[in-house]
Amino acid sequence: MKVLRSVSEVRAWRASARRVGFVPTMGALHAGHLSLVERAVRETDAAIASIFVNPTQFGPSEDYTAYPRREAEDIRLLEQHAGAAVFVPPVAEIYPPGDATRVTPGPIAAPLEGAARPGHFVGVATVVAKLLAIVRPDIAFFGQKDFQQLRVLQTTARDLRLGSEIVGCPTVREPDGLALSSRNAYLTPEQRRDAVALSRGLFAARELWERGERDPRVLRERVRELAGGGSVALEYVSVADPVTLAELDTPAATAVISLAARVGRARLIDNVLLGMDVADLR
Ligand code: AMP
Repeated sequence: MKVLRSVSEVRAWRASARRVGFVPTMGALHAGHLSLVERAVRETDAAIASIFVNPTQFGPSEDYTAYPRREAEDIRLLEQHAGAAVFVPPVAEIYPPGDATRVTPGPIAAPLEGAARPGHFVGVATVVAKLLAIVRPDIAFFGQKDFQQLRVLQTTARDLRLGSEIVGCPTVREPDGLALSSRNAYLTPEQRRDAVALSRGLFAARELWERGERDPRVLRERVRELAGGGSVALEYVSVADPVTLAELDTPAATAVISLAARVGRARLIDNVLLGMDVADLR
């Protein structure tokens, strides 16, 4: 596996590769990230991942400095999963001196994480636009776990004609339901036990949906009843249209239920998609 650290090295690698699948990450890789790499290996000729903790998507009081960094172990895992290359740029390679251009996504970035984390999606859209311009993959793979991010990037790639297909892949979970996240490493054993309430609440609402419940208020309430408690402080619970992320107030044929919560010093997000599959979204 090639370890590439500069834009020019990536461009040289790209020139000799055929159909390229790309998995952007911030590292501290877990089975969720690796499921995206496996998809890229299966569906393209050469899978390249990136490891870059993107400073512009963190707010001033967020965990940029504390974010787990495990480069050597990540590279080993990518190699084991048949990655063809990994791009590990220093910050100055992505944001060189004088860098000033930012990508501002549309209204899909306004609610939920956009409201809770001002500027977050400008940072995400900017770094992914840069990475797609550098790697020029045929397909880039993203997790449903960060559902709004997936939709923001699908609309950004479409609107800017970036030329890569943005494909969503299912959330990988722990056996008890907790969505895998690099930030789960912040949890104490007690907080880790409490955190299972998040997926439990979402799954209970999904069961209601499967039994025919379509009232967004009832679904929202079900999550609120079950997803909090102990060290889990819910920040928001949303039942929204999966295409636009507009909040639903009447029954609809499809929905995404999303939540964010503080658990100790971790801020965790999760979601379930109802009435459709993440692969249906492009
Ligand atoms: P991150 O390193 O957190 O920026 O995530 C990199 C990619 O992995 C993003 O597309 C995430 O949505 C995806 N991802 C993170 N956690 C999971 C998970 N539990 N299951 C599937 N994909 C995930």
